[in-house]
Amino acid sequence: MSMVTLGKTGITVNKNGFGALPIQRVSNEDAGNLLRKAYEHGITFYDTARFYTDSEAKIGESLSDVRDKIYIATKTAATDAKTFWKDLSTSLSLLKTDYIDLYQFHNPSFCPKPGDGTGLYEAMLEAKEQGQIRHIGITNHRLAVAKEAIDSELYETLQFPFNYLATKEERKLVSRCKENNIGFIAMKALSGGLITNSKAAYAYQDLYDHVLPIWGIQKETELDEFISYIDNPPTMTEEIKAVIEKDQKELASNFCRGCGYCMPCPVGIEINNCARMSLLLRRSPVELQLTKEVQAKMKRIEKCINCGRCSARCPYGLNTPKLLKDNYKDYVEVLAGKAL
Ligand code: SF4
Ligand code: SF4
Repeated sequence: MSMVTLGKTGITVNKNGFGALPIQRVSNEDAGNLLRKAYEHGITFYDTARFYTDSEAKIGESLSDVRDKIYIATKTAATDAKTFWKDLSTSLSLLKTDYIDLYQFHNPSFCPKPGDGTGLYEAMLEAKEQGQIRHIGITNHRLAVAKEAIDSELYETLQFPFNYLATKEERKLVSRCKENNIGFIAMKALSGGLITNSKAAYAYQDLYDHVLPIWGIQKETELDEFISYIDNPPTMTEEIKAVIEKDQKELASNFCRGCGYCMPCPVGIEINNCARMSLLLRRSPVELQLTKEVQAKMKRIEKCINCGRCSARCPYGLNTPKLLKDNYKDYVEVLAGKAL
């Protein structure tokens, strides 16, 4: 079993965090079964957010009787202290607990610090002093904010997208967390669905002993896969290396990670899926992408007014309107019979 300690927090768990964003999309009963099964098979770290609609409530319903045996990480996207306290109180109540193990600022556009005028970091400290939260973390998609958070020495954990498609800069971030004894939580460990080989994804994470991947789990089959890795963690073999190298080659250039931070779009384009359609067509069952519903979503790209809001918000610096147009052209050709 591979174990991870999240830096100064001392939180030590096996290398399978439960990412609770996707349980928003399933019924209460199915979410309850997943959460319970995860717990019974040894998963003890659950990452959710105030922003994930009923995810916290589902965790509260299913796991409150084993509260002292698990770690709960949640997040607030508050930009002022008043909203911070409101979010914290809502999260505690929905999670049916009186403390959060790790409370994280949810992808702020800046790195909250004491004295910055927002009162956010001061509120974090006060909540920690009161015992409502145990550790302070930050999540982000922007390299600059993540670097600032590490330099500030104010955060015990950093949650950032990380998988075998990471850039050199992103890998450097991971090393810097280790040097500074900051816990690193890897989100998007499957790159929003583009990595389809979970063994390879796991084996890569296993190379970094201080990194805790959180797997977004929606189906029992996905959960079973990760549960099996608790006792039999995949390690780097020649075969897995070849899978990784092939994917790295295929996805080497700038590609849309599907994070959705560029949205909303004023004309309602579902950018996070449409801007990576060419990859989805080739890396997931094609019939899922050719339904009438998806065709209508892709057609909406014709309505783009080139306002540039999406590219201005994209943390990866993508030329999103161009990416959308290129993906649409390819999609239309595939619909017309182009071979994949
Ligand atoms: S440039 Fe096009 S896709 Fe991007 S936000 Fe504006 S209308 Fe939407
Ligand atoms: S275009 Fe950029 S911000 Fe939008 S979903 Fe893709 S990676 Fe995320």
